[in-house]
Amino acid sequence: MILRCPNGNGVSSGMGYLWQLTSGSVLRFLFVPRYPKLKIIPLVLAPQLPLHGIASGVFPYLGGSVSVDLLRSVVMAYESAIVPGRQGAKLAAKAPGVLIDPAVYVPQARTEAETLFDYDDWLMRQRAAGVPLILTDTPRIPNRDISALRKALARWDMIDEPTLVVLPIEPWWLREGLPDLIEEVRAAGRPVAVVLLHRYNGLDIKGAVAGLLKFAAAVRPLPVVLLRSDISAVGAVAHQAFAGFVGWSANSRHGPLPMRRPDGDDERDESPSVLVPALNDYVKTSKLSVFARIRRMDVLRCDDRVCRGDSLLRIADLSETDLRNGRMLACLHNLASTEQLARRVLAAADPREAWWETCNAGARSIASLAGSGVSLPLHRWLRQWLELGSPAHDYRPVG
Ligand SMILES: [Zn+2]
Repeated sequence: MILRCPNGNGVSSGMGYLWQLTSGSVLRFLFVPRYPKLKIIPLVLAPQLPLHGIASGVFPYLGGSVSVDLLRSVVMAYESAIVPGRQGAKLAAKAPGVLIDPAVYVPQARTEAETLFDYDDWLMRQRAAGVPLILTDTPRIPNRDISALRKALARWDMIDEPTLVVLPIEPWWLREGLPDLIEEVRAAGRPVAVVLLHRYNGLDIKGAVAGLLKFAAAVRPLPVVLLRSDISAVGAVAHQAFAGFVGWSANSRHGPLPMRRPDGDDERDESPSVLVPALNDYVKTSKLSVFARIRRMDVLRCDDRVCRGDSLLRIADLSETDLRNGRMLACLHNLASTEQLARRVLAAADPREAWWETCNAGARSIASLAGSGVSLPLHRWLRQWLELGSPAHDYRPVG
């Protein structure tokens, strides 16, 4: 059974990909080999040291339940990808070029706590999988715990393979703890990958965006990578972070914390969230129909290579009748629209300007909806990017 592409053909010869709904009701997304590679190289090359194993740019961070076929096709299309945990390690062994995030900072993975950190289990797993770059197995680094930070920065510093030190930290380290973070990373002299731990989005915390950019600038030329991020990774790379790995679903867009989610509508709303390019933000598909009701179909249009001008409503419709496949389609859209965004911003003459313009356009769209009685929040992370301004713009509140 073929899930039809928007143009009505199961196989699109022009775009070189096809969707397939297999007998097991698993939505698969396969790229045919001739599809050109989508390496995203910023026009303005960042003045960092090279990081062996990955290029500078924006890449996908997938879930551990992805199929091997899909993972292979994603790596072929997007050049690099990360998968987390033990399941990820098994997958990566079958998909050359894929990186593994040990993700020991995930609460349920820390049953053995510190003892895990003293064994080289994850080093062996990554070597066995033949990864191009080894990521360290850092547990959560508590606020104010300099010795835990130092221990993380010294992890596997004597091995010969290219290694990226994973730093799972709360936003505190980008604010009050920033001077210590900068000092310790400079002293270690190693490339680092920041996982911002938060229930939802660590960059919503006041000062976190500015702190992140200050950190990346202060430790330059050491490469700074954002791991398990959302589209703010595009902004960070525009401001010369080395690379960002953007989660393809809400679960992989932030570092989880051992806390209950707040009670509320979202608790029971199982629909996937999708990147809405017109708003430069994520919205749950259950909420998309409101834009159709107020005749703002323009907000729902997506021009990436998965949607190709179609409406995001089709993801909402599929999610209502078939949640599993709806979620998968949402993930594929999120990959493609993030790539489209990154390509546009990072190829601009001044990527910082292009990112600011994108955030501003999103904020203006959100403000314009209020006139139709739809009030969406301007999230604090987005407001922080606006307030930073750009080489050509000061921030002026909209709406
Ligand atoms: Zn799309």
